[in-house]
Amino acid sequence: MEPKKNSLYEIEITDMGTDGSGIGHIENGITVFVKDAVIGDIAEILIMKVKKSIAYGRLMRLVKPSPFRVKEACPVAKACGGCQLQSLSYKKQLEFKTKKVRDCLERIGGLSVISANENPGSSETDSVILYDTIGMENPWSYRNKAQFPVSLDKSGKPVTGFYAGRSHRIIPASSCPIQFEGHEEILDTVMRYITESSETIYNEETGTGVVRHILLRKASATGEIMVVLVINGNGLRDEKHLVEMLAPIRGMTSIQLNINKKNTNVILGDEFKILWGQNYITDKIGEISYQISAPSFYQVNPIQTKVLYETALSFAELTGNETVWDLYCGIGTISLFLAQKAKQVYGVEIVPAAVRNAVANAKLNDIQNVRFFTGAAEEVYVREKIPADVVVVDPPRKGLDKKLTATISKMAPKKIVYVSCDPGTLARDLRRFANEGFKVVKA
Ligand code: SAH
Repeated sequence: MEPKKNSLYEIEITDMGTDGSGIGHIENGITVFVKDAVIGDIAEILIMKVKKSIAYGRLMRLVKPSPFRVKEACPVAKACGGCQLQSLSYKKQLEFKTKKVRDCLERIGGLSVISANENPGSSETDSVILYDTIGMENPWSYRNKAQFPVSLDKSGKPVTGFYAGRSHRIIPASSCPIQFEGHEEILDTVMRYITESSETIYNEETGTGVVRHILLRKASATGEIMVVLVINGNGLRDEKHLVEMLAPIRGMTSIQLNINKKNTNVILGDEFKILWGQNYITDKIGEISYQISAPSFYQVNPIQTKVLYETALSFAELTGNETVWDLYCGIGTISLFLAQKAKQVYGVEIVPAAVRNAVANAKLNDIQNVRFFTGAAEEVYVREKIPADVVVVDPPRKGLDKKLTATISKMAPKKIVYVSCDPGTLARDLRRFANEGFKVVKA
């Protein structure tokens, strides 16, 4: 029997979904999603909607609040679509992530998993050894990039902030506790410019108005800052005035416009216009410097990026004699990290501006044993077929193209290092590699 709409249940929240909803179970194995509930809560819920084996409940009362609950550091944490786990202690967030990876490897990947804590040392096992999620000391003020949408409030005044979850409604905010220090001043300056120069604001429904988004980037190692105003038009009313206001801000290195006249959710258009300074900023990770242009992908947490790349490098176990492919290489970050320890590295990336950065970055660091290709990983790798000892992949959330897993398997590298931002597609792809005879060793 299905649970009825409007019936009350008392449940324990045992998991959380990707949107931050608490997850619990009621009779007949029905899974219930409850917004604003966290792992460990005992909650009274009202069933709002039932769909086959899934139900959605509203949190009516906390019978016993979870011991892992903390007060959110951000005043708009609940309304904003940015952070989903702020009401969970950081330690519990990390445990949640480890569990999430484990569940995916087991359920989607069909792999047997053993925790590194249960298998200390390097005793032989057929299971995937799963390490704990590596957290950071102070998980605040770390993000080096933000994209703020601009809109009009009810009174017609320009506002900026963040989108509410799954919507384009702006939750006004002039500050964000996970953003780099100093972002408030830049944002405030751009908003003052908009008001002073009476710039119009883009309206998604009518396609009219000019200012769409404010994109900020800061290189944490050098302090260099980039500001990009995304506009629906060819220019601003008073570009000189904007430059006069922004250029004196400490670290300002690049002020640009991006032209986006399309009515889409994609933030950036193809065309950029430099108003002041250069078209890139320079950051440093470990010993290597990187030039980053506006359309290029760059990891958003510089402290953890170093941890990530060092982990990838240690998993690759290079001795100096290897040929390595770095697929989905962006501006060549991982490629250049690997090049320090490999004989030859080949990088593949689809965004031409990122490849231009990658080539410049190799030169900037005087690294000669790398070569970059512009194109889709699944096409370039399939075409070039240069054998590799180690293949590193770092795809977007949708994971690897089937053709690519097949080609990598056929080329039979000794090792694959998979850097992933989505444990679900990671597990799917690991299953494909396992089916081709690879052994999944550790995660
Ligand atoms: N390894 C880099 C970039 C990872 S993000 C870093 O750590 O900085 C994934 C990258 O893959 C992005 O730069 C994106 O532009 C690129 N990309 C997306 N689809 C691709 C494809 N089919 N082939 C090659 N690169 C692709």
